[in-house]
Amino acid sequence: MFHVKQSAPPHILLVNPWITDFAAYNLWSRPLGLLEIGGILRDAGFRVSLIDCVDAENFSVQTPFRPKTSPYGAGKLKRTPIKKPKLFSAIPRKYCRYGITPEDFSLQLKRLPKPDLVLVTSIMTYWYPGVKEAIEHLKRHFPHTPVWLGGVYATLLPRHARTVCRPDRVIEGPFTGNLLREVCDLTGHSPAQSPPLPGQAGLPFWEGYNFHHFLCIRTSLGCPFRCPYCASHLLSPGFVEHPVEPLAETVVRLYRFYQVRDFAFYDDALLVNASTRFIPFLKALKKRGLPVRFHTPNGIHIRLITREIAFLMKQAGFNTLRLSLETINPETQKRLGSKVTLEEFDRALRYLFEAGFTHEEIKVYLLVGLPGQTFEEVTASVAAVLERGIRPSLAEYSPIPGTALWEAACRVSPYPLKEEPLTHNNILLACGGKEITKERLDALKREIQAAFGSNPPENGAVKPEFFPQEKPDEEHP
Ligand code: SF4
Repeated sequence: MFHVKQSAPPHILLVNPWITDFAAYNLWSRPLGLLEIGGILRDAGFRVSLIDCVDAENFSVQTPFRPKTSPYGAGKLKRTPIKKPKLFSAIPRKYCRYGITPEDFSLQLKRLPKPDLVLVTSIMTYWYPGVKEAIEHLKRHFPHTPVWLGGVYATLLPRHARTVCRPDRVIEGPFTGNLLREVCDLTGHSPAQSPPLPGQAGLPFWEGYNFHHFLCIRTSLGCPFRCPYCASHLLSPGFVEHPVEPLAETVVRLYRFYQVRDFAFYDDALLVNASTRFIPFLKALKKRGLPVRFHTPNGIHIRLITREIAFLMKQAGFNTLRLSLETINPETQKRLGSKVTLEEFDRALRYLFEAGFTHEEIKVYLLVGLPGQTFEEVTASVAAVLERGIRPSLAEYSPIPGTALWEAACRVSPYPLKEEPLTHNNILLACGGKEITKERLDALKREIQAAFGSNPPENGAVKPEFFPQEKPDEEHP
């Protein structure tokens, strides 16, 4: 009798590097793209491991971290002050690495068998110091293992990523079938059957975490809009919609398996084509009657909120709604793609209140610091939202390479946006000029706080969408 020796499947390590910034808050944030790739690789028969450097609760070794979490699963991140880059020397705040300690990262790496390939993701361009540091650790621990870098920063600034972070390869754009074949060729692995790609795939690699306060889902990938400040079309070209029934089943499976009640939608355009996707999805969920809650940390399109959608969302358990108003100035609205008017905002609010949403469950994103924007425009927008009893959430503009607004941003900004990605950090208000200054903005934020009391769960939030982010007014204790 012959025994055929089975060789172990190739080992792929996924790494989500640290955030390096003045503030960060976990607003249902997970590296979903990386986890989807992990799911594909797992389904293709690879052995997959994950280290999420941002998640100190799951990945600390020596120094356990229990975050303060909101009742809905969002929470604080562990932070360690680090040396501030010279560019930020005038900013009187602590610059931090968010997540596990470098020592814990090393211990995590030591525990793992040598990987055959490491896939590192990246998010904001100005967080590249965390990416660079993670890749340096990986190269020290596994000098002979190829390290590939993908994600937002790698896609938007591949040359910078190549020269500064020095991975073995930079992947621009989404993970494709060709890339999967390359991973197979590199590791000598032949999957039993060709695994599906994101959207048709099984579950993301959620098992990479020991513990979940929340999970993330998306019903579509990409966005049919072209807002001039947004990079969605560069990161996910096209608009791919996922079939409804399997999605509803996924929520059931995740709820049952992980006992998680909070789900965050990662869609860029959740309500687009609602009659064929979101509405049937909500109806399918309703039939299943799960005691779950849904959150939309990405702003949803106000114009697309109908009475039916408002009622179905309420019945399905949505209770954190973020609406993208951007501004009430008609000229700026036009510049940003004519997606919404003040009348449509009022109509949407009416539907949401009729459906039973409370003022506290709704927040409205307003953009601040766009090239050429006046402070008067921002205060008028804030006033309009406050008048309606809703809390505005100020999203400070961060210039993004490759977007339609990029060249205008480079023209008006005193910072070397093209040379140094740290200058994209919205703490600098790089395009605010004399109009939108830190002092004026701080005063405006104080007004908002006075109207609502201090309730900063989203300030400095790490939102899943590539949307300009806010910074908290106070440092975390
Ligand atoms: S900002 Fe939102 S609506 Fe506009 S292109 Fe980006 S994802 Fe789409």
